[in-house]
This record gives sequence, C-alpha cells and structure tokens, in this order.
Amino acid sequence: MQIGLVTYKPEFVEGYDVHVYFSKWVDGQVFPAAKGMQNDVTVFCDAKAIREDPSIVSLSKGGPALRRNRKSNLAFDFVCPTHLGYRKKVFEYLDSVSSQDIQGVTLNLYHFADLDYCTCPRCTEQREKSGLSWTEWRAHTITAFLKEAKTHTKGTFAVEMFPDPVLAKERFGIDFAAIAELVDYFHVPLSSRDYFTNYWVDTIVRDFVATLKKPVVVELSAEMPTDEKIDALLRTVAYISRHNLMAVLLLVHDSENARQVARFAVHNEAFREWLQTYEFKEMSRIVDNWAKIY
Ligand SMILES: [Zn+2]
Repeated sequence: MQIGLVTYKPEFVEGYDVHVYFSKWVDGQVFPAAKGMQNDVTVFCDAKAIREDPSIVSLSKGGPALRRNRKSNLAFDFVCPTHLGYRKKVFEYLDSVSSQDIQGVTLNLYHFADLDYCTCPRCTEQREKSGLSWTEWRAHTITAFLKEAKTHTKGTFAVEMFPDPVLAKERFGIDFAAIAELVDYFHVPLSSRDYFTNYWVDTIVRDFVATLKKPVVVELSAEMPTDEKIDALLRTVAYISRHNLMAVLLLVHDSENARQVARFAVHNEAFREWLQTYEFKEMSRIVDNWAKIY
C-alpha cells in the first residue's frame, strides 16, 4: 500500500509516494496544472460559473441544485451535466492541464447532484428521445461524459465519487461497472472532522474493495489541529491498511501539515508499539520509512 497526499499546494513532500493536487475547485477557481502530479479536477460543481450564468444550474421538481435549496441536502452547487457550453469549458481546461508534464488526471463531481436531478428541459428531452429509463439514461449520460472527458486527459486516469457503494447509480448516475472500464483506479473520499469513531470508514472501504473492479485509493482528512485527532486518524489508516488498497491519501492544508502527521507517527512510541503488537505490517512499513526522514 502506498501513502500519499491530497493537497491545495503543488508541493512534493518526502515520505509520500502519491501526490494529488486540486487544480480546479468547487468554487470555480482554476489553477495551472501541477507538474509530475495527479491533477484533481472538479467538473460539475462550479459556484462561480453558476453565479455568472444561473441558467446552467441543474434542476429538480424541488428546485435548483444549490446549497441554499434545503429541499436537497447538497454540499455544493451543481451545473447540469448536459450543458454543452459548460462541458466545452471543462474540456478546454482539461486540454490545458494535459498539455503539461503531469502524472495524470482525477475527475471529481462529474455526476448528477442527486436522485431527482436533472429535470431541466434539455435533460428531459434527451431522456425522452433515448427511450431509456430515468436511471439508465442518467448513468449512460455520465459514462458517456467520462469517455469524452478522458480523451482530453493524459496519463493515469481516475475518478472520485460520492462514497455510496450501494445507490451510486440510482442517485448520481455513477455506474461503477461501466466506469471501471475507463479508469486506472477509483478514488474514494471519506472525509471527516475526526476519526474517533471509525467503524464506518472500515465498513465503506470493505464495501468498495469488494465492489469495484479496479484498484481503490481511499482519502481521509488530515487537517487535524490536535494530537488526539492525529492519533485517531493514524489508527484508522492502520485499520484500513489491512484491506487490499492501492493507496491511502491524506487530505492536508499544506506540506507542513503532511510533515506534522509523519513526525507525530514516528515519535509516538505507544502508536508504534500498538502497530507491532497487532501486526499492522503495511502501516509499520510506512512509519518505519517515515522514521528515516522525520
Ligand atoms: Zn439538465
């Protein structure tokens, strides 16, 4: 198992094998590609684009796909996935990212907002013409989008997802079996403010490893201000390191945050003894490697 970072700053940090850089954000900010890294591009969540042209927002019978519409429980504002003008802008950005010397591209939030989206006139007309059911048309639309998007990328191609292993197709149009044909790996974000309670992380990781037909990478939040929280995070990484994962990625503010986590692990005797006692071989190897540096 590799250990890596998801970060807002394009900085390589010693002791981490994988670097994922957020190059396009949910608020609509875009940044130049990070060379040598996996560039994570947010697709249909773009608050800035929706502010500039509210007509591109995705719709449901309960209203638009906006955070402020509390008829849905959305974390971000969603553009309609069939809006060709917006898709073109995304493809142009992917072209610019892929013109650089990057490791690859990860797409994030490339799906429908939730079960009851999108009912805009364009989506309604396309679905009726297709003859497909609501669920099948939405899944087909997202898979077709990913196929087209992939032609605008280079290197390692991966996708994130809303971490629902059961209803992803019905809710978001994410067809894991079809998408497995396109990607090199799946990136599962399991963000939390802390991991004092971690059975749900272990459970969801098991479900995804059993379900997905490509390698799995799991992302946990590491923007932790206290020692207790870092300790709980590291023990959670240790537990999931027992599953067949390609990598665990830690979401950090910056490179100092990443070093702080590694230093904490190396100099925490109780934690290292715990790893030995319960035979967390993969995690012990990672911490032993950190100990050479930190
Ligand atoms: Zn639509």
